[in-house]
Amino acid sequence: MSKARVPALGAEGWFTEEGGAALVGSRCATCGTVSFPKSTFACPNPRCAGTELIDARLSATGTVWSYTDARYQPPPPFVPTADPYVPFALAAVELDGDGLVVLGQIVDGVTVADLHVGRRVELVVDTLFADDDTEHTIWKWRPIPDDR
Ligand SMILES: [Zn+2]
Repeated sequence: MSKARVPALGAEGWFTEEGGAALVGSRCATCGTVSFPKSTFACPNPRCAGTELIDARLSATGTVWSYTDARYQPPPPFVPTADPYVPFALAAVELDGDGLVVLGQIVDGVTVADLHVGRRVELVVDTLFADDDTEHTIWKWRPIPDDR
């Protein structure tokens, strides 16, 4: 029996796997301002009074803007995936097109030694942690090989 795949708690609606992995933000119907996470009540643009916000699929590729590694286990609600704790890399990525900067984990097996500012990455939906019958998923960044 395969495990159910559900977005990790708190991340429902933040990303999709339909038609390829992508983050889902919102776009103001009045001025076009895009935000992530989604704006829910009103446009975040202070010069706009728009309140109609439409779900917007964001670019699944971008450029590393900054990065670090999480050498120490974060406090709860972080759920350790390995015991002992395995450090992982985090990157802030400027998405192509909309210019939003979105923080995310780097896929397993890639360390800060493999990253640099300007490195091209793509979004994947990957397992954050799993329990007996459910795989809890989240978006992560994966470096795009230099030859692509
Ligand atoms: Zn607006």
